[in-house]
Amino acid sequence: MLTFLRRHALLKHPFPAAWLAVLRRLPWYARLDPDLQRRLQGRIQIFLAEKTFEGCGGLDVTDAMRVTVAAQACRLELHHDPSHFPHCSTVYLYPDAFVSPVTQVLPGGVMAQVPTARIGESWHRGGVVLAWSAVEASTWAEWTGRNVVLHEFAHQLDSGSGAVDGAPLLRNRAAYARWAQVVSGALTRLRAHLAWGEAPIDPYAAQSPAEFFAVTTELYFEAPQLLHAFDPALHQLLEDYYGAFPEAGAQAA
Ligand SMILES: [Zn+2]
Repeated sequence: MLTFLRRHALLKHPFPAAWLAVLRRLPWYARLDPDLQRRLQGRIQIFLAEKTFEGCGGLDVTDAMRVTVAAQACRLELHHDPSHFPHCSTVYLYPDAFVSPVTQVLPGGVMAQVPTARIGESWHRGGVVLAWSAVEASTWAEWTGRNVVLHEFAHQLDSGSGAVDGAPLLRNRAAYARWAQVVSGALTRLRAHLAWGEAPIDPYAAQSPAEFFAVTTELYFEAPQLLHAFDPALHQLLEDYYGAFPEAGAQAA
């Protein structure tokens, strides 16, 4: 209840002009209708009040950086009841790719933690790590199908169902059954394509159901035609989950 009242009070604060200037530079913001623009602003106010941003590797985090990250994270929940990403309390920002231990299978089948350069990471509990150079690149270059903020916060939505398993929190068992059916069919087909040396979408999606959800989320917002061409049923599944985005459809015009 306290959280509800606090969030309600936050929404009465005017949206700062400097933050609005950042939003207006986002390529898709102008395509939202005024109601959605206001809704996004409110969600950003809540996001920035509730999450801590921490600069790493000598980065000074500016308000423009915070608003740029928050806007794209909140875009994911613009058309449905927001979770406000409860498992993410801190966003860690590095200037560039950072090194993090990643579990890999070495020759001989040995599992080991190998230091690996990364541009983003999502923790099941605690936070999201992002390389600012990658955030900037994916923010300004539309329709590449890549967006590190959408990718990592899709993992956060995934963890909202209790496990990072490629399925976010859904309404009921029937919705989970449909999700599993559509995703497993699409993932099997992707792996078959890759075995033939074809990559209809980013091969990284084939790593696991969790990466499949994160990568196809990027495509849903940033290259919807490509996703639709790969698998119309999967595109429809994500549209039913995220909501229809007329501002994403502008690519087709
Ligand atoms: Zn990922």
